[in-house]
Amino acid sequence: KSPVPSDIEIAKAQKPKHISTLCKELGLNSDEYELYGATKAKIGLNVLDRLSHRKNGRYVVVTGITPTPLGEGKSTTTIGLVQALGAHLNKPAFACVRQPSQGPTFGIKGGAAGGGYSQVIPMDEFNLHMTGDLHAVTAANNLLAAAIDARMFHEATQTDKALFNRLCPAKKGVRRFAPVMLKRLQKFGIDTTKQPDDLTPDEIALFARLDIDPDTITWQRVTDTNDRFLRKITIGENPTEKGQTRSTGFDITVASEIMAVLALATDLKDMRERLGAMVVASSKRGDPVTADDIGIGGALTVLMKDTIKPNLMQTLEGTPVLVHAGPFANIADKVALKLAGTEAGNENDSGYCVTEAGFGADMGMEKFFNIKCRTSQLVPDCVVLVATIRALKMHGGGPNVVAGKPLPDAYTEENIDYLEKGCTNLIRHIENANKFGLSVVVAINRFTSDTQTELDLVRRLALDAGASDAVVCEHWAYGGLGAVDLGKAVIKACDDKKNDFNFLYPLENTSIVDKITTICKEIYRADGIELSAEAQAKVDTYTRQGYANLPICMAKTQYSFSHDAALKGAPTGFTIPIRDLRLSAGAQFIYPLCDTIQTMPGLPTRPCFFDVDLLDNGEVVGLF
Ligand code: ADP
Repeated sequence: KSPVPSDIEIAKAQKPKHISTLCKELGLNSDEYELYGATKAKIGLNVLDRLSHRKNGRYVVVTGITPTPLGEGKSTTTIGLVQALGAHLNKPAFACVRQPSQGPTFGIKGGAAGGGYSQVIPMDEFNLHMTGDLHAVTAANNLLAAAIDARMFHEATQTDKALFNRLCPAKKGVRRFAPVMLKRLQKFGIDTTKQPDDLTPDEIALFARLDIDPDTITWQRVTDTNDRFLRKITIGENPTEKGQTRSTGFDITVASEIMAVLALATDLKDMRERLGAMVVASSKRGDPVTADDIGIGGALTVLMKDTIKPNLMQTLEGTPVLVHAGPFANIADKVALKLAGTEAGNENDSGYCVTEAGFGADMGMEKFFNIKCRTSQLVPDCVVLVATIRALKMHGGGPNVVAGKPLPDAYTEENIDYLEKGCTNLIRHIENANKFGLSVVVAINRFTSDTQTELDLVRRLALDAGASDAVVCEHWAYGGLGAVDLGKAVIKACDDKKNDFNFLYPLENTSIVDKITTICKEIYRADGIELSAEAQAKVDTYTRQGYANLPICMAKTQYSFSHDAALKGAPTGFTIPIRDLRLSAGAQFIYPLCDTIQTMPGLPTRPCFFDVDLLDNGEVVGLF
């Protein structure tokens, strides 16, 4: 039995300090944070104005090799590293992690607060509703979904003139355009100084009728539960909807475009623009129909306004953690970089912002650079690549690792053969990170069964492959103390920062297909891509509509470099099938769906929720 108690036992044994104490330690003014109880606070974006003169702290991105279904410890290492930097190496250090989705929390993987002696606490507050941000995303997403179907319903039964009169009702005998409607007038070149009563019948028709082509609607409803039976549904079955049934479906909340808008928006004004620009369908004439065409961009921003403030929590060792949004989370990084930043002349005192990029590095790191860094114009000082002996053995031909089942012997006993073969996966990820011009520190996340020979082998192969360092870390078992060597390696890599960061592909003058091909060939090492007829039609539509200059956000399994989760190691000789494409005009990327990737996960036979319960004293048990 491991000497390390369960995550929840460790988390419960440590009483968090009052979050207002942490706010004061960080030097936040009282008007720069709002308390959400005793363990969580939101940080206001006004702090960015006050600290704008500061030089940013050091920027470290944590990513991982291709994982097993159990996860290889990116979150745990992010937390362990900031504990080492903040509590043992005397550096201001902020972790920036994503807000957990209820899908994995109650589904297969469990919570996302880190593990062992490297956790965010209190972990039940972290894993459950937090400060309501995900609920706000769900609410905004579904308000827009309801608005689309309601609008189509009303358009189906009304003349242009009747629609127009309802959209611009007379108040005290005068009709007025709501401010959001001016954008729609502009879209069709109608003089925005005109009053509603001055529009010609043609202009009235253009303005009032969105004329959505139901076959082109891409906006889905969302819920933050793994609910596979909602993947495809029929709506409008009640007789009151007069036969206007339509096939649609649900995605999980964290996969929604609004989540991506939250992560990539730079401030509230930018968020308003992005929410209004989201495209939900095409009109029958082929024009994109946006949230602002539906008149809802302002209302969505109102629902989302508090979500833009990052949430502050703490590690087991009392150092700060910003918990924000889904993948990307630019604002949290910006806030952390300023709080960890320095006044002119004091650059040697620089602090650290350690941020996590989800999935394996082929997905998470590539998107981090080509999408997130492009928007934020921030470049990391170094990459931390988390690797485990168990995942490398799996890549070298070890038996399947299945969540909820005991690990086969190959993983709990020394096995150099599997390990050495599997290091091809690690080597390819190191090469990929080097392609972007950044130093890579490999964090070998030690499990108690790993042997010294195994650890030495991984370290040697990582250094041979071009890692700037490779460090065994034991933060899971020993907290920040176990990651002091990793902390030192990261400080050194940041001090020796290379200055030749580059994007993988340019945005302009490169077709959508060329950008996808570049990612698949350069990062996944595929021979090429194969577009379905549906995907090709979307490429044509989005190019015609003027969206070809957006970056690409691949939706692919994280369990292989390829689209096929069964191809482990460093596969070659495959072609990536692109089943469909989606446009996220507000988040500002194009989203190719590989093969069978799902945007709504399902529950296994034995989900994590079996373990979760509430004790008589109000304590939550079973989250891990
Ligand atoms: P990721 O963020 O890469 O998905 P996590 O950090 O969430 O991975 O870790 C996945 C699980 O593995 C967690 O339950 C965590 O407690 C556990 N874990 C991480 N590192 C270790 C370790 N060194 N020894 C044992 N368990 C670990």
